[in-house]
Amino acid sequence: MRASVLRDGRMVYRDDVPDPVPGPGQVLVAVRSCGICGSDLHFAAHGAEVLALTAQMTRGGGGMGVDLDRDIFMGHEFSAEILEAGPDTETYPAGTLVTSLPVLLSDKGVEPIVYSNTTIGGYAERMLLSAPLLIPIPNGLDLKHAALTEPMAVGLHAVNKSNIQPGETALVIGCGPIGIAIIAALRRSGVETIVAADFSPKRRELATAMGAHQVLDPAQGSPFDTAKPAVVFEAVGVPGIINDVLSRARPGTRLVVAGVCMQPDTMHPFFAIAKEINVQFVLAYTPEEFADSLRAIAEGETDVSPLITGEVGLDGVGAAFDDLGDPERHCKILVTP
Ligand SMILES: [Zn+2]
Repeated sequence: MRASVLRDGRMVYRDDVPDPVPGPGQVLVAVRSCGICGSDLHFAAHGAEVLALTAQMTRGGGGMGVDLDRDIFMGHEFSAEILEAGPDTETYPAGTLVTSLPVLLSDKGVEPIVYSNTTIGGYAERMLLSAPLLIPIPNGLDLKHAALTEPMAVGLHAVNKSNIQPGETALVIGCGPIGIAIIAALRRSGVETIVAADFSPKRRELATAMGAHQVLDPAQGSPFDTAKPAVVFEAVGVPGIINDVLSRARPGTRLVVAGVCMQPDTMHPFFAIAKEINVQFVLAYTPEEFADSLRAIAEGETDVSPLITGEVGLDGVGAAFDDLGDPERHCKILVTP
């Protein structure tokens, strides 16, 4: 079958990938749409560092078990159609449209569908999913919109972790896909003052479309002078940004770090100590948040269509990875196998 794989830091088109065979508890699905995530771009560019940090964190406990010298499958934001179930597997009938947490259960254990030499992700014609984790896509929902369940759940989780109340002002720094998902979740949770900051005019426009009440260009002055936020969401993920927030934020601020910075970073604890700033790092979502995210999209509470700025086939994934570097042109590119 056809797929796009990571090889030597580039996405490469292949038409000779063996079809995966579902085991017990698994289902074979045809991928209908798969979003390209910033973390995939990051892994393509800095895979060795990601693996080294993971190995360090697990204290030699195996890390992610990914070999960069072999082809790597990626793609974790997908919608799909059920083709067939594995042996002794009860699931929805063939033809059912589904999405799922990007996790594959097998006799080897629990494997995230994120970066793997063996477990195929959404940048492929077909992949395996776990029967117990499937969520049917509500009738009539655009499969491209359903593919955005996962990234929108990331924003919802960040907002839930912040414990923000409707009367509190939120400042979202960085309006890439994660910042945008946070803005949408803030809007849905009834927060009355959502301020968003980004250097890109296009991204500020998108932030407004997704629910920000006010947008600011950091080049025109610090957003903290205008916004006076109670809760700050950092969705940039570059060295120095956390220290900058700590130095500018008001006493008692809650800072939610959703940006994924993979380099070492420095900060002065003094800023956070002096102002008793609460810092919360966040990752991913709960299964409930994932399901809630799909429901919000399906019921029209969140319109994700402004996020989608491009569509490519499996042979266009490499070029799409390059194109996503330009915030003026792109937010989310979907792959349609
Ligand atoms: Zn992602």
